[in-house]
Amino acid sequence: MNKTIFQQIIDKEIPATILYEDESLIAIEDINPVAPVHALIIPKKCIETLNDLNPADTDIVGKMILVARNLAKELKIDQSGYRTVFNCNSDGGQTVSHIHLHLVGGRKMNWPPG
Ligand code: 5GP
Repeated sequence: MNKTIFQQIIDKEIPATILYEDESLIAIEDINPVAPVHALIIPKKCIETLNDLNPADTDIVGKMILVARNLAKELKIDQSGYRTVFNCNSDGGQTVSHIHLHLVGGRKMNWPPG
């Protein structure tokens, strides 16, 4: 199987602006931001979609959300507010088959989403 773009970033084969990294995940700036703050929190283990999660992934998913919370504070959008999104498959708008949590903020978000 070909590596996803995120696996190549994790393996440092292509560059990205890294906001946070530890042994189990990496957080980067989105290359095509939809808001003043747009980060992606990505587990190093490749899980293709949310449908592929299993109970052993509970800790990593929880950690992704905590890292999003910490980054929101660091990037000073915690008080104004922000949105966290997991897209899943085609109707959900997922374009990279390696789960990732979007952290988006720095402007007013609309609801319902487009
Ligand atoms: P999805 O549509 O799968 O939920 O989100 C994929 C995200 O990855 C998109 O927001 C897109 O802009 C971002 N992205 C795609 N390729 C790259 C890349 O090479 N580098 C970075 N930093 N982000 C990327």
